[in-house]
Amino acid sequence: MMHHGLRWHGNCYIIGMAHTVLVAHLPDCDICKHLKSRMHPEQVMKAKYDGKTKLRGIWAYMCQACFDELGIGLGVGKGQELVLSE
Ligand SMILES: [Zn+2]
Repeated sequence: MMHHGLRWHGNCYIIGMAHTVLVAHLPDCDICKHLKSRMHPEQVMKAKYDGKTKLRGIWAYMCQACFDELGIGLGVGKGQELVLSE
């Protein structure tokens, strides 16, 4: 899994209470990609959150299932929900 520090989200900006990010395209879930891409590429989900994980605090794009399992919540320093801008 790649370590994400500062990063560019592409065509997006923060709205509202900073828990939500508008994105032009939903990225693949980093967790799914890391765990499933070799054996089950069809099971790699689109990410719905960008947030810190329980995996040593690294940041990742996460689908709903992975966020439920590995996310630590939403908010400043925790995570944001990704929303399609279209
Ligand atoms: Zn996932």
